[in-house]
Amino acid sequence: MSKSSFHLTEQNQSIESRIVVALERISEAYRVLLWNESKEYSLSPIQIQILIFVSFHSREKCRVGYLANEFNMTKATISDSVKVLLSKELVQKETDPIDTRSYFISLTAEGQQIAKKASFFASSIKQPIEKLSEEQKLIMLNGLLKLIYDLNKSGIITIQRMCFACTNYQAENGIHYCALLDKKLAESEIRVDCPEFESKS
Ligand code: SF4
Repeated sequence: MSKSSFHLTEQNQSIESRIVVALERISEAYRVLLWNESKEYSLSPIQIQILIFVSFHSREKCRVGYLANEFNMTKATISDSVKVLLSKELVQKETDPIDTRSYFISLTAEGQQIAKKASFFASSIKQPIEKLSEEQKLIMLNGLLKLIYDLNKSGIITIQRMCFACTNYQAENGIHYCALLDKKLAESEIRVDCPEFESKS
């Protein structure tokens, strides 16, 4: 049986294990930064994530079911968070005209204000990335996109609105192409969260 990536001897002999541990460290940084942001508004981290998500995504994605898939949580957990946001008047319900039992959520003016500020919670992670060379950034982006795609395929993370999982994406001889935008995509243009994404499945 292979050793855990967290086993120090294994880790120091394997670049893959060191990458796994490095990603774990970075996920910890996200957790701490989000936690600090949520404390400022007396909200939970997931409530802050909902506000940020709603602020940047189209109305049809702002439903409890979609949010549950997005954040890999149960509908009941998201529903509880939405109830708190409603009670604090940070979001409001909009009835779906096609199905009146269903609703979208949108931000109130105060919710928008908080989302705008909180959406910068990861700035301390962006700053060191800005110091990398363009080549380093491209290698990093590429590796991360492939990792996310594989994690999505194996069912560990759910919704991904990225080019590799999109029906409009084509690749030939290392050239990336978007049929919807009708243009070649440079490596640096491959999207992680595309508003025009259409799932292959
Ligand atoms: S529609 Fe968006 S996600 Fe799909 S291939 Fe084009 S750019 Fe990528």
